[in-house]
Amino acid sequence: MRRACVSAARAAACPRMSASLRKGHASIFAERLTSESHTVKRALTDPRLFSGIGNAYSDEILHRAKLSPVKLTRRLAPEETQRLFDATRAILIEWTDRLREETGDGFPEKVTAFRDAMAVHGRYGKPCPVCGSPVQRIRYADNETNYCPTCQTDGKLLADRALSRLLKEDWPRSLEELDEIKQR
Ligand SMILES: [Zn+2]
Repeated sequence: MRRACVSAARAAACPRMSASLRKGHASIFAERLTSESHTVKRALTDPRLFSGIGNAYSDEILHRAKLSPVKLTRRLAPEETQRLFDATRAILIEWTDRLREETGDGFPEKVTAFRDAMAVHGRYGKPCPVCGSPVQRIRYADNETNYCPTCQTDGKLLADRALSRLLKEDWPRSLEELDEIKQR
């Protein structure tokens, strides 16, 4: 069956793409990514830049690319941008296949039912499937971003406003410090 590749993000994820077309997509991706200075998380989930990625997939993409969600797009090295493009493509292809197997045709909107198969998204406190560190989160409004500090942020914990307000000066900077605080 012929696959219809729709939207910018999913077009980049089309598995049948030729090498030269993929190169073209990679440079469009890089251009859009750096068109404004944002955190990568925000850029990936901005529908004006990339349609069809969203909160869940962006967490999975950043984990695969081993990049911090709060890294600024204009500070990414070319090698990191390429890694991000490859991860975006890989994650969207994998999930399109997986969801299609589960549901038949069409791209289901409800990703939540599949969270157990995700590496970090919706898995706060659970072990990262790559390194075993507990998955962390940054909460904002009614959403959260999940990431693995060991794989993505050199072991640093990113400020979760709700938690940091609570801890004030005790805000932990590393997994080791968080463990110490928990043990008090
Ligand atoms: Zn990890």
